Amino acid sequence: MRREHIAVLTSGGDAPGMNAAIRAVVRTAIYRNLRVSGVFHGFQGLIDGAVEELGPRSVANIIQRGGTILQTARCEPFYRPEGRALAASTLARCGIDGLVVIGGDGSFRGATLLHEEHGVPVLGIPGTIDNDIYGTDVSIGFNTAINVALEVVDRLSDTAAGSNPPLNVALGVRPRLRAPAASHNRLFLVEVMGRESGNIALYVGVAGGAEAILIPEQSLGADEVTNLVIRAKERGKSSSIVVVAEGAYEGGALALQEAIRRRCGYEVRSSILGHMQRGGSPSTRDRVLASRLGYEAVRGLLEGRSGAMVGVDKRKAVFVPLTEVRAKNKEIDWQLVEVAQVLAI
Ligand code: ADP
Repeated sequence: MRREHIAVLTSGGDAPGMNAAIRAVVRTAIYRNLRVSGVFHGFQGLIDGAVEELGPRSVANIIQRGGTILQTARCEPFYRPEGRALAASTLARCGIDGLVVIGGDGSFRGATLLHEEHGVPVLGIPGTIDNDIYGTDVSIGFNTAINVALEVVDRLSDTAAGSNPPLNVALGVRPRLRAPAASHNRLFLVEVMGRESGNIALYVGVAGGAEAILIPEQSLGADEVTNLVIRAKERGKSSSIVVVAEGAYEGGALALQEAIRRRCGYEVRSSILGHMQRGGSPSTRDRVLASRLGYEAVRGLLEGRSGAMVGVDKRKAVFVPLTEVRAKNKEIDWQLVEVAQVLAI
C-alpha cells in the first residue's frame, strides 16, 4: 500500500524497551523510503500538534535507555470524541497516513477509536511491564521488570538465609555444619507491580524460589499464608520469601505483614518495589522484542494492515485485530502456578 508519512507515539505507563521500539519504527520507515515523525506526550501530542519529523540519527544511542524519548502521558480529552477529532485533524494537517501506538490496553482503546471513527490507519505495539495483553506471548518491558524485581528478591534471600552451608555433593546432603536454626522464622514480603495481573509476581516468585506467590487471579488470605510459612519452618526452612502482586491483597504487603505478625509473631519485613520496576536499561530480550515489533509494525502498515496489534506468537510476528485484543483476557499461566506450588516444598 502506498504510504508517505507515518508517525509513532508512546502512551500510558512507560516500559523499558519503548525507545528500542521507537528506533526500530523510525529506521525501518526511513529504510522503506517513508517520512516518519515522532509525537510527543502520547495522544496529547496529537491534540496539541507536538509532532516532529525524525531521521535515523534522531534515534541514535537510545536502544539501551529506559523510558521513552517521546515521553508518555495520560490524555483526558482523548476519552471524548471531540479530542479524538482534534487528533485526527492534526494527522491530516501533517499528511500522516499511518500511526504506530506503543502502549498498553488503555492506549489500544484510544487507538481503536481513532481508527474506527476517523479511518486513521493504526497499528499497536504492546508496551507494558504487566504482560497482560491478549494476543502476544509477551509485551515490551516485562522481561526487564522481572529481572529488576528478581535482583531485589535474590539480595533479600541472601540476607534472609545468612551463611548458607555448602551442599555436600558426595553425600548429596547438607553437612553437619548447619547454621544454627533461627529461633524465629524470617519472612520477607516483596510487593511487585500488578493491580489486576499476577504475571510479574508469578515469574519473579518462581525464579526467586518464593515460598508463596499472591496473585490477583488467585489470592490467598493471611491465614493461608501464615500456615504456609509455619509449615515451611516445620520442614526445616529458616527463612521464606513471599511475593505479593500489589492487587492481590487488600492494603498490599504492609497490611499482609501486619496480619501475619499478629497470627504467628514471626519477624516479617516488607519491600515494596513500586516504580523501581519500570526503570533501568532494557534487557536483551526486551530490546530484541522491541526491534522486531517496530520493524513488523512498519511492514504491516505498508501491507495495508490497520486496526491491529502486532505481537509475537512462538517467536513469529502476528497481527491481531485490536477489537479482539480488547475483548479477550490474557490468562495467567496456571501450569506455572502449579510449578511454583510444587517447588516450594
Ligand atoms: P495503558 O495504555 O498503559 O493501559 P492508560 O490506560 O492510562 O494506559 O491509557 C493511556 C491513554 O490512552 C489514556 O490517557 C487515554 O488518552 C487513552 N485511552 C485509554 N482508554 C481510553 C478510552 N476508553 N477511550 C479513549 N482513549 C482512551
